[in-house]
Amino acid sequence: MSLTDIRTPNPKNFIAGSDGDWEIVIGMEVHAQVSSKAKLFSGASTAFGGDPNSHVSLVDAAMPGMLPVINGYCVEQAVRTGLGLKAEINRRSVFDRKNYFYPDLPQGYQISQFKHPIVGEGEVLVELKDEEPVTVRIERIHLEQDAGKLLHDQHPSKSYVDLNRSGVALMEIVSRPDLRSADEAKAYLTKLRTILRYLGTCDGNMEEGSLRADVNVSVRRPGGEFGTRCEIKNVNSIRFVGQAIEHEARRQIDLIEDGGTVDQETRLFDPKNGETRSMRSKEEAHDYRYFPDPDLLPLTFDQAFVDAIAADLPELPDEKKARLIGEYGVTPYDASILVSEREIAAYFEDVAKGRDGKTTCNWVINELLGQLNKVGTPIGESPVSPQQLGAIVDLIGEQVISGKIAKELFEIVLAEGGDPREIVETRGMKQVTDTGAIEKAVDEVIAANPDKVEQVREKPSMVGWFVGQVMKASGGKANPQAVNEMLKAKLGVE
Ligand code: ADP
Ligand code: MG
Repeated sequence: MSLTDIRTPNPKNFIAGSDGDWEIVIGMEVHAQVSSKAKLFSGASTAFGGDPNSHVSLVDAAMPGMLPVINGYCVEQAVRTGLGLKAEINRRSVFDRKNYFYPDLPQGYQISQFKHPIVGEGEVLVELKDEEPVTVRIERIHLEQDAGKLLHDQHPSKSYVDLNRSGVALMEIVSRPDLRSADEAKAYLTKLRTILRYLGTCDGNMEEGSLRADVNVSVRRPGGEFGTRCEIKNVNSIRFVGQAIEHEARRQIDLIEDGGTVDQETRLFDPKNGETRSMRSKEEAHDYRYFPDPDLLPLTFDQAFVDAIAADLPELPDEKKARLIGEYGVTPYDASILVSEREIAAYFEDVAKGRDGKTTCNWVINELLGQLNKVGTPIGESPVSPQQLGAIVDLIGEQVISGKIAKELFEIVLAEGGDPREIVETRGMKQVTDTGAIEKAVDEVIAANPDKVEQVREKPSMVGWFVGQVMKASGGKANPQAVNEMLKAKLGVE
C-alpha cells in the first residue's frame, strides 16, 4: 500500500539529532473490545474477572464440530463505531482465518477480517491546546476474535491457560501514519476513547484491557521519505503510549546516526524502565495463510440496517463542542474539557440552562472537576448535585454572596451536603449590602491608615488594597462592589 502524507512538518514537533532535526511518524492500531454481553461467535459471557475458564462455550474452546454463529449485536456496534468515525460502511464484508499456533488459541486460527473489513475510511479530529486541530485518517475497522490468556505465575514449572477472553469481539481500528508526536498520539487515543464511550460501543477501560494500542513508530528527516517502522505491541495506558513513542524515537535516531539501520520488528514496552525491547523481527513474521472462513458466509446487511443505527446515534463530542460554544458562550478550550466525557457535558448543561454559561463553566471546571479529580470521583457520583451547584451560581448572580464566600459555601456543600440557600441563611453568610455597615468598616480602615491614604492619591490602583482590608474586616461578607464604590468616593480617586 502506498502511504500518503497529509501533514505539513511543524518545527514544534522536531527532535534535535547530532546532525540536524528529526520528525516522528506514528500510526496506531487500536483494539477495542466491543461492549456486548456475549462473544462474537458464541453465547458465552464476556464479563471481566470471572473464575478462569468459567465463561467458555464449546465454540470458544474449539471443540471439534462446533460452528461459529455471528452475534448481530456486535455487528451493530461495529457499524455504530464506523458511523461515529464518519467512515464508509461496507455492507458486504468477509471473515477470514488467520492461521497461527499459540497455546491460548485453541482453534489454531483467529477469525478476523482481512481483505474485506466491515468499515472503511473515516477520520478522527485531534485537538491539542493552542494548536490547529489535526485530522487523523482512519484506514479501516475490522471485527475479530480475541485470544485467551496464558497464566505464568500460578505454578513454579507450569503455565495455565484461561479461555474466558477467547472469542470476545474486538474492533481493530487502524489509523494512517498521520500522527507526529507523543502528545498527538496520546490526544488521538484519548479522543478515540471518548468517541467510543459516547457511542457506547466500547467501555474504553484500559486497565481491564478493553482498549489496547499497537503503536507504529518511525523517524525521518522533516517532511522526507517515511522511515522503517517498529510496532510496539499492546500498550495499555495512554501515559505508556507517550513514553513508548519517546523512547522508541530516540532509540531509532541514535541507531541511524550511529550508521545503523532500523529493522522492521515488533517490540514490547516495559513500563518498569520506560524502554522498548525486541519481541520478534519481520524475518520471523508469520505467514498467516489467510483464507475466507468456510464456516461463515460473507456478512451482508441492507442500507436500512445502517440507516436505523445512524438515526439512533447520540450527539458526538465535536458536534456537542460546537453547540456548547454557540449556546453558552464558553471558550473552545473549556468546551473541549466539558465534552471530554458525556457525563460532564450533561452535568454542565443541567446547571447552565437558564443561567450564565461562563460562570457555570468556571464552577464546573475549576471548582467541581478540580475537587473531584483530586479524589478520583467520577462526575456521575458527584456529592454536589447540579441543583446544588445551580443554587450557588444563583446566589452569586443575585449578589447574595460574593465569589469568595461562594467558594466556602461550595466546600460546605461538598463535605456536608444540604441546601445552599438554607446554609447561607442559617450560617449568616449573606453578603452585607447595608451601606451603613459598610461605611463604618470603610471609615475605620481609612482612619487607621493615614500613610496609605496619602499614597493612594498618587497611585489610584492602591484602592485594591483598601478593598482587601475592608473585605477582611467584614469576614468576606461585604459586597465588594459597594465597598469599592464607597472607597473611591471617600478617597477621592477615580
Ligand atoms: P501491515 O500491513 O504490515 O500491518 P499497514 O500498512 O497496515 O502494515 O500499517 C499498520 C500500521 O502502521 C498503520 O496504523 C499505519 O498507519 C502504520 N504505519 C505504516 N507505515 C508507517 C511508518 N512508516 N511509520 C509509522 N507508522 C506506519
Ligand atoms: Mg495492518
